[in-house]
Amino acid sequence: MNPLYQGMPVSVFERMSLSAAEHDAVNLGQGFPDFGWPEPLVTEAARLLREGSNQYPPSRGLPTLRQAVADHYDRHQGLDLTPEHVLITSGATEAIAATMLALVQPGDEVIVIAPAYDAYAPLIRRAGGVVREVALRAPDWRLDAAGLRAAVTAATRLIILNNPHNPTGRLFDAAELEAVAAVAREHDLLVLSDEVWEHVLLGDARFTSLAALPGMAERTLKCGSAGKMFSLTGWKVGWLVATPELAAVVARAHQFLTFATPPNLQAAVAWGLGQDDWIVPMRSAFTRARDRMVSGLERSGYVALPAQATYFQCIDLHASGIPLDDEQFAMLAVERAGVASIPISAFSEKEPVTTMIRLCFAKRDETIDAGLAALAKARALAC
Ligand code: GLN
Repeated sequence: MNPLYQGMPVSVFERMSLSAAEHDAVNLGQGFPDFGWPEPLVTEAARLLREGSNQYPPSRGLPTLRQAVADHYDRHQGLDLTPEHVLITSGATEAIAATMLALVQPGDEVIVIAPAYDAYAPLIRRAGGVVREVALRAPDWRLDAAGLRAAVTAATRLIILNNPHNPTGRLFDAAELEAVAAVAREHDLLVLSDEVWEHVLLGDARFTSLAALPGMAERTLKCGSAGKMFSLTGWKVGWLVATPELAAVVARAHQFLTFATPPNLQAAVAWGLGQDDWIVPMRSAFTRARDRMVSGLERSGYVALPAQATYFQCIDLHASGIPLDDEQFAMLAVERAGVASIPISAFSEKEPVTTMIRLCFAKRDETIDAGLAALAKARALAC
């Protein structure tokens, strides 16, 4: 192996999407919708591409979008924000990268709650930091407050929380959020709260931003994503929300990463954030899609875990009577049954859970049904 690859594996999303293409499989792996987006938003972006500016916007983001993000969170999450709290980035992943590069000094420890999004650990290391994983316990994936507390050392700088949580689809409850906040306050830590799934809530799920907890506005760096909000994952328009002081520090790092984000897409998102009529239909469409997937899975003998948010549904392979680990099953499913999924073990470095896979239900009915048929075949092959 090329030693330069050390610490930077091929992302599981890329690996499974390439496998899906190679085997002409239904892609329920990487999380992206295959159905429509809010049409007026795309129309507005197309108009702005013709009539707006196509030159560099300000590095910190278009003032209209920074204002729209601040207003949106004031309205929906009771945060008290101004444009000075907001930095626009090229997707939430860039907000995470800029935060690591700006705030993590060589030797600093960063606590990651695993299973965790696969970009965190490589970015922490690139910034010179040390990854400390705290494991959520399957199958209910609750946060272990004592485990979190025990992971803090004198070198800890930051905790990364992802809520709603990818890949499990969990929303942490009030007690779990308070446990994170208490540890951060006691040890004077910052928290990068990756809240990109905040609007992709299923059924009657309700979301609270970590920044809304007492004493947390000043120590939370919240990241959000227009891609997730509007089902436009390829736009890569995201943002970071923090105190003006912290936002200014992260903005310095962002200057030397991407500098800025396409202005027409920013302007279209600013317009979209001002309309709230997409939220309820989006949630009911995703809730219906999840329910369709879960009933199909149960019909063919799978045990599905509860999913409260995100595009994702996990299945417990062992409880479903499948004697393979997640990686073996995912490969069998894509190569021999024609459906791509994501093995959950890819989201942990230290104590991977190897008995679950993640499926994306942000798909048209036909795609879900084709995926379900292939999953039924995969189970028959595996059992
Ligand atoms: N967020 C997406 C997921 O969890 C993947 C993003 C990516 O492909 N890097 O599936």
